Formats: sequence, C-alpha cells, structure tokens
Amino acid sequence: MATLGNPQKTIEIIQKYEFMFQKKFGQNFLIDTHVLDKIILAAGVTKEDCVLEIGPGIGTMTQYLAENAGHVVAVEIDSNLIPILKETLADYDNVTVIHDDILKVDINKIAQDYNGGRPIKVVANLPYYITTPIIMGLFEGGVPIDNITVMVQKEVADRMQVGPGSKDYGALSLAVQYYAEPYIVANVPPNCFMPRPGVGSAVIRLTRHKTSPVEVMEPDLMFRLIRASFNQRRKTLQNGLNNSPEVSFTKEQIIEAIEQMGLSPSVRGETLTLKEFAGLSNCFTQMKQ
Ligand code: SAM
Repeated sequence: MATLGNPQKTIEIIQKYEFMFQKKFGQNFLIDTHVLDKIILAAGVTKEDCVLEIGPGIGTMTQYLAENAGHVVAVEIDSNLIPILKETLADYDNVTVIHDDILKVDINKIAQDYNGGRPIKVVANLPYYITTPIIMGLFEGGVPIDNITVMVQKEVADRMQVGPGSKDYGALSLAVQYYAEPYIVANVPPNCFMPRPGVGSAVIRLTRHKTSPVEVMEPDLMFRLIRASFNQRRKTLQNGLNNSPEVSFTKEQIIEAIEQMGLSPSVRGETLTLKEFAGLSNCFTQMKQ
C-alpha cells in the first residue's frame, strides 16, 4: 500500500533522516496524490510494463509505480536518498534502485537486462535542470521506448507541444515531434511540491512514433538545419543557413534548395513545419549525390 504522497508523511521521512533538499539536484518532491494518480493513468502503466523512473527522491511515485507495474528501475543520483529509498520501498520486491547519474547510465542496458530489450516506459518528476538532455538522450540513444510521461517546467511542456506560428515553437518542438507524439496531460501548480518550485509545472506524455512522421535521409543534417534556423530567429531562412557554422552549403545551393521546396526566398525558418525541414534536408542530401 503506497504510504507516501501526502505532506505529513513526506515531512516525517525528511525529519527522520535529517534530509536536506539540494537545489543543484532539482529536488521538488510531489505531495499530491491526485497528481500521482494522473501520471500513472496517463502513462498507462500495467503489470506487463517495465518502468524506468528517473530521480525517485524519497520514493513517492516509485511506490505508485511498483503497485501498478511489473518491474520498476529507479535511478537516483543523491546518495542521501539511498537509505531512505531502502526503507520506503522495503515492501516491494519489484523495484531496483540504481545509485547513479541518469546522464551516465546505459539505459539501453537497463531495457535489455530488465525487459529483454522490449520497449520500456519512462515515468518521472524530472529534475528540471536536465530535462532536455534526458529526453533527447532517450530518443537519440535509440532506447526502446513505449512512452515517456514526465513532469517538466510548464514552459518546456508548451515548447514540446506547439507547432509553427507560436512564439514557443523551436528546435525542441521539432526534435520531440520527430520522435514522438506529445500530449499535455495536466498543469500542476507549485503547491503540489515540497519545496514549492518557482515555476509552474506540467505533466507531458511523449508517445514514441512507431514509424517516423517524415522521411528524412540524414536526420543529423535536418537537425543542423533546424538549429541554424532557430539560432537566428529574426533572419530569413536563407540568411540563417548561410551564416551558420553548422551548415556548409554555398549561398547558391541554399537558394536552390529553398526554391526547390517551393518556399519564398524571404521565408523565415520559424514558419517551417517538420515536413518542410525534412524536405529541405533531403534537397541538400540529393545535391551532394
Ligand atoms: N520523484 C520524486 C518525487 O516526485 O517526489 C523526486 C523528484 S525531484 C523533482 C528530482 C529527483 O531527481 C531528485 O530526487 C534528484 O535527486 C534526482 N536527480 C537529480 N539529478 C539527477 C541525475 N542526474 N540522475 C539521477 N537522478 C537525479
């Protein structure tokens, strides 16, 4: 029976172990059972699933996950939390706690060792200071993933979900949408955490595409074009690509590719869809052949 998830129990554990919150680890623990229920439901966790939890903290969400999943692997960086997790997770025989930095762990190996290489689910109340490297690492590292359901800063959730025309649209939106279908499950106010974060939060689910939504011959080139376009937002696409150290095509080739795509010479990068970036990238690839 999950016992954590309310403020009293969290305070009790923290006092017992004289635990000091560490800002550098982005420690804001969830103290709202409704939010925990919503996360588990949105992730669609069942007894068939192997779940990777990033940053279990004192084990609040881990208890919920353990009750619903087949197996839970929880990776925590803070050594002060390890003895606490030993106590709070003592009743569960389907949880493995790994004391390590998630950015250094071989997650493919976790999927192999604990789920025979089949797709895992990732569920977390993420440490906000490393949201993007964690999510991009999971996608780019080719980890077999069913979905990623995570608490992130509200502003970051918005950036992942929007399309062209929004001020939040950028390289992160395109990178996430290339790999997955984003869906904002809930907005979560600061009073659902201890201590309260200075920003609003949201739970977002990223469901991995079974087949890519666009055909792109060189994804790496497409992402370079995307970064070049958004690094210089007020410039035209043509100037953005021309001035970027990441893009090595000549001015003539850039003009030709934009023309081949049927785009206006004065088009701005931030108006292009993922499909258009893929098409542009393929034009450049074909020029090289
Ligand atoms: N899951 C808990 C909860 O919801 O109450 C804690 C969430 S707290 C926002 C983020 C957690 O990630 C903390 O426990 C923190 O120590 C841990 N963490 C921070 N950086 C990490 C890293 N690089 N690798 C693994 N865990 C990390």
